[in-house]
Amino acid sequence: MDQIKIGKFIAQERKRKNLTQKQLAEQLGISDKTISKWERGNGFPEVSLLLPLCEKLDISVNELLTGKRVSEEEYRVKAEENMVNLIKEAQESKKKIILSAAVAGLTIIAAVPLFVISGTVEMENWLRVLLVAIGIVVVTGGIIIACILDREAGAFECPECGERFVPDMKAYVMGPHTITKRKLVCPKCGAYKYCKHVLTK
Ligand SMILES: [Zn+2]
Repeated sequence: MDQIKIGKFIAQERKRKNLTQKQLAEQLGISDKTISKWERGNGFPEVSLLLPLCEKLDISVNELLTGKRVSEEEYRVKAEENMVNLIKEAQESKKKIILSAAVAGLTIIAAVPLFVISGTVEMENWLRVLLVAIGIVVVTGGIIIACILDREAGAFECPECGERFVPDMKAYVMGPHTITKRKLVCPKCGAYKYCKHVLTK
């Protein structure tokens, strides 16, 4: 999905309808900041807004996803391309989540023996310190990689307003979490809630 192209298309169709960002936002019951975000290619309308948005702009969802007007002849081809792309994005997110869990698992498998050996086997002190240090570096590196992969996979969904967003690294790391949810501040409604990790933006 080319968000920049889609954003430009939304802006173009909005202007064709002689609407300001504020007017369109009011009609959709959202903030004009959200519209401006979409138009800059910095976010994509959540599923529940797709149909109302397309209706206001007199375009089809297929055209929105394509980022341009689609002729009758092209329509089917574009619809199928869009469908395949959406499935592909969801699958790639899933892969990243699995990869992230694998990295976390491998890290533990790699580091635990280092700690065990350094704690039990007879050796010089400097060697013991070195083994522990290597263990700490491996664990830290593994956790960072696992976090990067997990954060980039898909998005988080606000339980209050349904907004889907990718948190910045700091908010992600600091947020208390379970395996599938993480406590984050919603950029749209400001709620600080446990947001579900979802596979598509
Ligand atoms: Zn929200």
